[in-house]
Amino acid sequence: MVAHKVKGDLYMIEGQGGNIAAYVTSEGVILVDDMYDENHGEIMATVKSLTTQPIKYVFNSHQHSDHAGGNVKMLAVADVIGHRNVRANMAKRGTAGMPRLTFSDEMSVHLGGKEVRARYHGRGHTNGDVFIYFPEVGAVHTGDMFLTNTSTLQPYIDYANEKKLVIPFVLMSSGGVVLGWLFSHYIVFPYMIAFFDTFSSADLEFRPRVADAFDLYVKMLAGMVLVFQMPTAVFFLAKMRMVTARFLARNIKYAILIIFIAAAVLTPSSDPWNQLVFAAPMVVLYLISIGIAWLAAPRRSSEA
Ligand SMILES: [Zn+2]
Repeated sequence: MVAHKVKGDLYMIEGQGGNIAAYVTSEGVILVDDMYDENHGEIMATVKSLTTQPIKYVFNSHQHSDHAGGNVKMLAVADVIGHRNVRANMAKRGTAGMPRLTFSDEMSVHLGGKEVRARYHGRGHTNGDVFIYFPEVGAVHTGDMFLTNTSTLQPYIDYANEKKLVIPFVLMSSGGVVLGWLFSHYIVFPYMIAFFDTFSSADLEFRPRVADAFDLYVKMLAGMVLVFQMPTAVFFLAKMRMVTARFLARNIKYAILIIFIAAAVLTPSSDPWNQLVFAAPMVVLYLISIGIAWLAAPRRSSEA
């Protein structure tokens, strides 16, 4: 762990987690962030190498464990301050070490004649990021607000869980409608018509009535649109931990059986070939759904 002098009495401590700001005053030290829980000892030693003053306040730039993971141990020696959403996010997850002091817009700590000002500017990297400003030295600790993925150059954004699901839902669901429609219109329906036409012979001419053909077309369309919602449904069930990829893979033979029964119900005729036209895409969608369940599975994400 290395302490770099930024300016005046402001230092940046570089280590395992997010960089810490250490501001030394005549009445104590103010920190911004406290890295991971296991870094606590080394942080204390590094601050001790800068000053004999004790740590009085710790600001959390946001709640990620590489920035606020040291809160539990810091709370024993200092007051931890965070935006009210930081505390709410930690409470929601049952994370220990919630900040004892919270605020909603702006909050300052005045210590040893110096000021440290934290300000909330709305949703960013999380919904609880604050910029911490040191007026005397003209410096700002930005937490992870300007952190970008080095390969994609996209910012890291930790949406609140529910809000994050709106976009995949809209994309997957409407994608399923479009694909189901295309599949029904260009593959299933022409196939069905061609199939019925195979019964034609010199004596028998296939002449479907418009009303019947249209009725069949609409039923096919509705059926395929419904079938193509399978990955969306699985995505949400996996998110809610109600299904897993392993569960889906293990029960594939039952799934195929259910798919063929469903195909028999959905198919207007009892012909096995017609059932196959319905069942085949459902089996393919089931296989895709296994992959989706694996991707959607909640796992400990590497927090930035
Ligand atoms: Zn972060």
